[in-house]
Amino acid sequence: MAHHQIQVAALLLAACGSGDRASVPPLQILPMPPTVTHVESAIGTEAQATPDKPLPEAIARIQRDALHSSHAFEFVRSLTDDSGPRLTGSDGDKRAVAWALRTMKSLGLANVRTEKVMAPHWVRGVELADIVAPVAHQLKVTALGRSVATPAAGVTAEVIEVDSLEELKKLDHKLARGKIIFANMATKRTKDGHGYGEAVGMRWVWPSIAAKAGARALVLRSCGTDHDRLPHTGATSTEKPQIPAGALSVPDAEMLHRLLAERKVVTMHLTLTPKTLPDVETANVMGEIRGSEKPDEVVLIGAHLDSWDLGTGAIDDGAGVGIALETVRLIGLGAPPRRSVRVVLFGNEESGGAGGKAYARNIGAAGADRHVAAIEADLGGDRAFELQHLAGPEASAKLVPLAAYLLPLGVAMSQQAAGGGADLGPLRALGVPMIDVGQDGTHYFDIHHTANDTIDKIDASAIAQASAAFATVVYTIANLEGDLGRVPDAKRKSRW
Ligand SMILES: [Zn+2]
Repeated sequence: MAHHQIQVAALLLAACGSGDRASVPPLQILPMPPTVTHVESAIGTEAQATPDKPLPEAIARIQRDALHSSHAFEFVRSLTDDSGPRLTGSDGDKRAVAWALRTMKSLGLANVRTEKVMAPHWVRGVELADIVAPVAHQLKVTALGRSVATPAAGVTAEVIEVDSLEELKKLDHKLARGKIIFANMATKRTKDGHGYGEAVGMRWVWPSIAAKAGARALVLRSCGTDHDRLPHTGATSTEKPQIPAGALSVPDAEMLHRLLAERKVVTMHLTLTPKTLPDVETANVMGEIRGSEKPDEVVLIGAHLDSWDLGTGAIDDGAGVGIALETVRLIGLGAPPRRSVRVVLFGNEESGGAGGKAYARNIGAAGADRHVAAIEADLGGDRAFELQHLAGPEASAKLVPLAAYLLPLGVAMSQQAAGGGADLGPLRALGVPMIDVGQDGTHYFDIHHTANDTIDKIDASAIAQASAAFATVVYTIANLEGDLGRVPDAKRKSRW
């Protein structure tokens, strides 16, 4: 997600060795040059570029290398071909952790390591939905992540449609009892992804509200902007009581709506048999470029390594992994910045958010105070177009040079406050400044969390441009004279 500019009220969306596998061709990585001890000209306020003024050479070099490179794309290709889907607890998840360790080492990063994360282990089962009356129709359905199961033989019940949260809350419990609730709210297509943020509460909280009303199960119109017959999965809340919950493909949801609008009594047979197993070990994987002057101060660039199980997790969040690794590769090709840059590939973003929580817990408040900023790439592989921040009052002035540095990439400064990615919520709660490099999310929600999430959806030149923007931002902040302050107390509560 992820994730970004997405406005979500209450959403958590969301022992591995380095064992090389002989069958996997090694990723071709340009070696890091030896450390340069003399930093020619650090990026400070004196180095502001304007359209008439050239960029500082370090920034120009990063952007040049990024735009002439297909490394970001290649990272995603290698991850997704090598690991496949990476749902927490799966073999693909373990392969991805090994891949990330291997890749960070080949990039020459310092302190490459895993951080143990204990996380929920949920596995998908049978998923079938049929309208049995008034006319038989087979529907395309998928279980929401962390849903509970129906009996193995499924449930058969009349369907009641609700189109808004207000309507659901007002639903007569006598009417809802024993029924299958159909939650029918469309996801709006928006450039910054906020349409998803408005719709996704339906996936997160509506099933437990329907459960409290006595419903037997819930099916929803997929939180997605496509019209393919591919349902979108994604996590649902585990708040008790829980009922089985699944997503219908958009065309199937529209047909169900039409039948109900004709005042037909619709009966559905629904079978979902996912299982929740005991918690399982996964990992965050991280590595660093050590800062030349203040190595204990950190700028974090993150993405999540896990994915849903239906596709190969190329746009969510293989693309973010590619951008984050390309960011440190690009920065590593030059003289190190003043502060350390740490890349963190979080585990378990999708089905519990345990990786982000573990990272914040392990660094604690004192560690968080040494984090100058945190940035997550989790809105796919499309072009960057805006920059947002959430930090102390001094931050806006400090970030002024970035307006000029990002101009050649077509990225504008936004007045909207950054939200931070889902994995960064626990850091935001500790006051760590959040930076969002906003990417074009117009088509992201056509694909994400579906079987269609595969690498062919990524344009190598678009992800190269996004990487140029992330690397420019991370490098500049790692080189700032002062810091960005802290997120004010009143704004520390993450919308995740
Ligand atoms: Zn994501």
